[in-house]
Amino acid sequence: MKPRLVPLFLSLGWNFIPYVITMAAGTHHFFWDADRFTPLCLLVLLLLGILSRKLYSVSSLGLLAVNFMYVHIKYHWGMDLAESRFEAAMAGPTSETFEYAKIYFGSPELAVLLHSVAALFLIYRVFRSPSFPPAWRLWSFAMMIPLAVVLFLARESMARFPPMSVVSDMLEAEAHLGQIAARESFIHNTQSEARSCSEGYEKIVIVIGESAVRDRMSLYGYPEKTTPFLDSLNPWHFNGIAAANQTRYAVPQLLTRATVRNFNAFFHSQSLVSELKECGYETYWISNQGGLGVNETYITSIASEADHRSFLQSLDYVKTEYDGKLIDTLAKMGTARGRKQAFFIHLRGSHFDYRERYPVESAMKPGGSISSEYDNSIFYTDRVLSGIFHQFESDGLLFAYASDHGEVVSEQFYGHGFVPAFREEYRIPFVVWTAKKERIDTVRSILGEGILNSESFNPLMEYLVGLDNRPDLSSSTLVLDVSPGNIVDYEKLANAIRVSPATR
Ligand SMILES: [Zn+2]
Repeated sequence: MKPRLVPLFLSLGWNFIPYVITMAAGTHHFFWDADRFTPLCLLVLLLLGILSRKLYSVSSLGLLAVNFMYVHIKYHWGMDLAESRFEAAMAGPTSETFEYAKIYFGSPELAVLLHSVAALFLIYRVFRSPSFPPAWRLWSFAMMIPLAVVLFLARESMARFPPMSVVSDMLEAEAHLGQIAARESFIHNTQSEARSCSEGYEKIVIVIGESAVRDRMSLYGYPEKTTPFLDSLNPWHFNGIAAANQTRYAVPQLLTRATVRNFNAFFHSQSLVSELKECGYETYWISNQGGLGVNETYITSIASEADHRSFLQSLDYVKTEYDGKLIDTLAKMGTARGRKQAFFIHLRGSHFDYRERYPVESAMKPGGSISSEYDNSIFYTDRVLSGIFHQFESDGLLFAYASDHGEVVSEQFYGHGFVPAFREEYRIPFVVWTAKKERIDTVRSILGEGILNSESFNPLMEYLVGLDNRPDLSSSTLVLDVSPGNIVDYEKLANAIRVSPATR
């Protein structure tokens, strides 16, 4: 049996090396979940190898391709961004692809390429080895049947984890692009109608944060002074919960009619950007997140409704600018007195890696731990908010700040987009400041100390600017966990970290 099994085992083991190395090197939470599937995949390949050398060779070639994409995405972007990378690749012009390859073909790619050459040789040896005796082949076929059932039943959770997620991400990216194209044609074919924003604000400033959890803000009772500016401004701050724990689904729910129960409304509704345009505001989208055709297509689709757009991030998503640069951009784009203008400012906020989010000289305390670096990122965001706020005269200003979603923050365990989700991923700052008190007081009297779901950010803004005369507020505790298919109840989720009774 030896001459048949040896090449097979060699080839099998070799094929899995890049996967095992990248997994072991990562601190990512995917590791343990994905690990369950590795032995299963190995077993399937082994049985295939016994059953048919041709089937084995074809599947191994597929695996090599997946490995290549996986290593590439893992090293340059992190798996969270995989799906948007595919979108970018499919949506972007060819010149962008070349430019991309120039920047991103590095040593991980070279290593995996060399690995693939050796893998091809080993696959060839399996291909050329004599076939197994009929009894072996029959047995392996029989064993594959229950295995196929298991894999079929586990297909959804398997598709979430690398390397399988690479394939599902590609399919998802294709579907997203189709939806976005449909939304674009909807917006394009919608006749804009003149509307009235009866409250008459001269400037509307909407700042969308990133991965800020209100538990870590002194404005919301955190014992360390992480938000001195907001503390002194003392804006109305709601007990916000995010409608989703991922940027892609959270931002559309902030700015369009998309809700937890009906995310699809996003694809056939215009956003607050267009609505303010119809009220005669000149609209601006200023973002420190991915640019057109590069990253988050849903958000880019909203941004494209604005009269003026500026994206600080280009292809190079890894090296990001500090959010402070947004203030300069804002100043350059011009905040003209006496003109109706609405600004949408999308921060990089507290997105991991936290220590990359603030200049060292702007830290409130020494870094070195996840927790201190996270606090520093919140502290810096507060400074950026102050910088943005002070670009404007306070008369005639409506200023709002909400994070897209929250974040789990502890030394061993951090991030967002978990399944099942944790409460910290949803507890967001939701802040409104205006010199006009009447409408905000109405909202306060309706809500009291209750929860405000970020799906009602858009209707709240419509009410505050006077587009609508009734505040359509949502105190629903239903939220999306990762995707619109997965609605969960915030109240039934667990906290990842033990919290003080003050945080609810
Ligand atoms: Zn986000």
